[in-house]
Amino acid sequence: MRRRGYYGGFGGAFLPEILTATFEHLEEAFAAAKADPDFWRTYVELMANYAGRPTPLTFAPNLTRHFDGAKIYIKREDLNHTGAHKANNVMGQGLLVKRMGKTRVIAETGAGQHGVATATMAARFGLACTIYMGEVDVQRQRPNVFWMERLGATVVPVRDGTRILKDAINEAFRDWVGNMDDTHYVLGTACGPHPFPEMVTYFQSIIGREARRQISEQEGRLPRRVYACVGGGSNAMGLFSGFLDDPVELVGVEAGGQGLAGGRHAARLASTDAGVGVAQGYKTYFLQDSDGQMRETHSIAAGLDYVGVSPILAHLKDNGRVRFEAATDDEVIAAAALTMTKEGLIPALESAHAFAQAFKEAPTLRPDEAIIINQSGRGDKDIFTVADAFADPAWQEFIIQKAEHYKRMKPEG
Ligand SMILES: *Cc1c(COP(=O)(O)O)cnc(C)c1O
Repeated sequence: MRRRGYYGGFGGAFLPEILTATFEHLEEAFAAAKADPDFWRTYVELMANYAGRPTPLTFAPNLTRHFDGAKIYIKREDLNHTGAHKANNVMGQGLLVKRMGKTRVIAETGAGQHGVATATMAARFGLACTIYMGEVDVQRQRPNVFWMERLGATVVPVRDGTRILKDAINEAFRDWVGNMDDTHYVLGTACGPHPFPEMVTYFQSIIGREARRQISEQEGRLPRRVYACVGGGSNAMGLFSGFLDDPVELVGVEAGGQGLAGGRHAARLASTDAGVGVAQGYKTYFLQDSDGQMRETHSIAAGLDYVGVSPILAHLKDNGRVRFEAATDDEVIAAAALTMTKEGLIPALESAHAFAQAFKEAPTLRPDEAIIINQSGRGDKDIFTVADAFADPAWQEFIIQKAEHYKRMKPEG
């Protein structure tokens, strides 16, 4: 018999005894919601009227011409309310919270994007909201803290440990243990103990369902490949789940940081620096050193800077269904720059990882083949990082060279 919440050897729910009943309640509520056709209909309506769905699938004629290979389509998750796919997950969990009759939500956030999305949902549904954030991140992400508070949330700076995301996760779990009766923990990605990976994937699958329908209408056929960046794995699982049973190649792109060789990256599935372990309540590949200690991760994109990864993606790596690659910080800036000037789109630096890998491969495909890149979010938040990169003349030069380099990558014959 398949153990619940396992994907191959990954996943599970490694929980303190005291949370068992809460997780069973959540699992039952989610199963009942999924079995109720009204629930998905209500969710789709909410996303249409509140968040701006369906998001378009935009053909990119200029990038297509530039690379002279596959037709490039972009799934526009940047157009969701709050600027990223994170809205799909929080609004879905909000509907579930209402069904469960709970009145308070908590969440942890690193860069602040998930905190803002959760605070938005809480305001809409009339729920009390507490957001845990490492003290270092509170300092770094002032604008997001400001908006969370204006949206009515309480932001709690966490002063334990290294005062970053993982310390905030511990604190959020501590809160949950003390307030299980009225509180739901809104996990932000397709990670953590069962049923979160499955539940977050379920809500994000709206991306893949739309994309499959849209490409079929616009191209009259399925794409050859689809690309998504991978932090915890939720936007990737959302897009991929639309094509899992099709003859479509799925490519997940992780943060290559300053290059895989030097160890300053967050590539859990595309590098050999990760090992299988149990942490934060689930089993997956974690970036760890030879003693099993969690390694420090690095990425130019805060949303990809995480030591673990979705257990579902870990399984899809092991069975070969998804290919994993890594894009370095400089490739990412170059890809974002090219996308801005060619198409007038400003992808989040997280999303630009998917663009960078797609740009490497597009010239090697035929003009009658299509690819889809998931633009998981908008890049407005990255203004200072991008400005820093462009302030350096060497970067400018690199970016121009890179665009030329991409063009020359077309294979002979
Ligand atoms: C948070 C975030 C990500 C990473 O999260 P996943 O769960 O891997 O999707 C990617 N892109 C954007 C724009 C984000 O805000």
